[in-house]
Amino acid sequence: MSNTIISIKPACTGCGVCSYICPNSAIEMKSTFEGFSYPYVDPDKCVMCGKCCEVCPAVKDVEQSEAKWYCFAADDHTRWISAGGGILNALISLARDDETVIYAPIFSKDHLSVKHRKLETADDVSLICGVPYVQSNAHACFPEIKEALEDNKNVLFIGTPCEVEGAKAYLQKEYDNLILVNTACGGAASPFVWEEFVKSREGYSKIKRLDLGSKELYCDESIRINFENAAYQEVKSGDWLTNYHKGLFLRKACYGCKYNLCGSSGDLTIGIYYPVSKNDGKGWSFVGVNSEKGSSLWEKLQQIPNVTTSPIPPDAVEKLKKYFSVPNMPEDRQKFLELCYTHGFNKALKTINGKPDDTGFTKKYILDYHAGDPLPWKILDPVVWTKREFDSELYLLSNGDKWKRIFLPLNCTLKMSTQYHYNLKLKMKTDAQEVRLMFAEKAEADSVCPLLHKIRAYQNDTWMIISGTYIPTTDILKYFMLTSTDFTGKDPYICFDWIRIREE
Ligand code: SF4
Ligand code: SF4
Ligand code: SF4
Repeated sequence: MSNTIISIKPACTGCGVCSYICPNSAIEMKSTFEGFSYPYVDPDKCVMCGKCCEVCPAVKDVEQSEAKWYCFAADDHTRWISAGGGILNALISLARDDETVIYAPIFSKDHLSVKHRKLETADDVSLICGVPYVQSNAHACFPEIKEALEDNKNVLFIGTPCEVEGAKAYLQKEYDNLILVNTACGGAASPFVWEEFVKSREGYSKIKRLDLGSKELYCDESIRINFENAAYQEVKSGDWLTNYHKGLFLRKACYGCKYNLCGSSGDLTIGIYYPVSKNDGKGWSFVGVNSEKGSSLWEKLQQIPNVTTSPIPPDAVEKLKKYFSVPNMPEDRQKFLELCYTHGFNKALKTINGKPDDTGFTKKYILDYHAGDPLPWKILDPVVWTKREFDSELYLLSNGDKWKRIFLPLNCTLKMSTQYHYNLKLKMKTDAQEVRLMFAEKAEADSVCPLLHKIRAYQNDTWMIISGTYIPTTDILKYFMLTSTDFTGKDPYICFDWIRIREE
């Protein structure tokens, strides 16, 4: 087994356990521009002990589930107000009656982000994130869960299979007072894409109500957002659901997911029983019973008044497994995410679908550099920089503390008072708390720097996309100059994935 967590990155589900387990606190979970969090290792603190890799669930084999499968429908009212047949609501009511502490992925009040936390109020139930799932940060509540368990409280944890595996890896022992429920998972959607999607809806304003399994349009296959000033309804083939099911904005690890419905992560597996829900129009859930604890909970669920249950035959279970399998990574996923970051959800979608768009991406670039292309830098002072190419990425390592500038050659001159749009994807490593990345108009060191982007400490060594507009104040510019100041520490570097500049 590898003893560096970096090698695990493609399979990393973001469970966060490695960051807790590291004896030297060398790992920090940080968000990439895609909106997913990954572990970042501080090489100065890491002693290569390998403990992070030993605990990582992403590199462990998954036991194939021997679950017994059932379908479930609560009373008609519960079904109408919940997704599927209301299994989640039934579980939560049972747990609340029992004074069990519940941890679940819950939307923020503005519905723009999802976080795992303790369910406190009745309102929280309506804020639980259902399918399609927007990635949460389940690991944030692991220490609290452990404390509650050690305090002999009963705990119910609800999450995706990989989040449940993360909880198990964190706790490192079995607790009789813990019930783990994993949701059937078709992939974790990017939190930033969700935010962009909601903000791009017509009439966007404060959300009054979000219904991720609306029964009113297409049973369980539509979502409804009620804004304060207008209503928005997404139907079956709408932007979010269609592209979620295509896998356009999922976490990379999801495309090779080893859990889905095949791994027995939780005591129970729950989900919407789509084929039956659709025909019935009222909604059905399915339940996989994976353990003895799961079995006694299932007994209690069946005793709730007015519920209907029946076993699911093996061939129908196989169909369900296929339904929840994650598609291959779409070729245009990366392009979509980048465009979504720089131009928002609607324009990104139009562009990748080949529709006429107003993103300007069809316009000619004045500079269009991608890592792996021949190095375009006209002036790359070897006293200041050492160039390295690694994994098709261009790293410029600082050779000293001289003023660090890079001149980018443009294929035309820039006109005064004309607006230009710039986009850069880059990452930097520096000890400075705040780095200033600037564009300057002239090649002289004392030139003015009309644009300035401050890179904060938490963005250290993570990919970020910087975009904006720029209007030159002089007539002719031979180069764009990229300058970074406060660029300090051991082996500081600046690494580019792409840089684009175009006329607006
Ligand atoms: S190898 Fe050891 S010291 Fe280094 S990050 Fe992993 S757990 Fe921490
Ligand atoms: S899956 Fe979890 S333990 Fe493994 S690298 Fe990712 S965050 Fe760390
Ligand atoms: S598809 Fe797999 S890896 Fe992705 S969130 Fe779901 S369980 Fe985790």
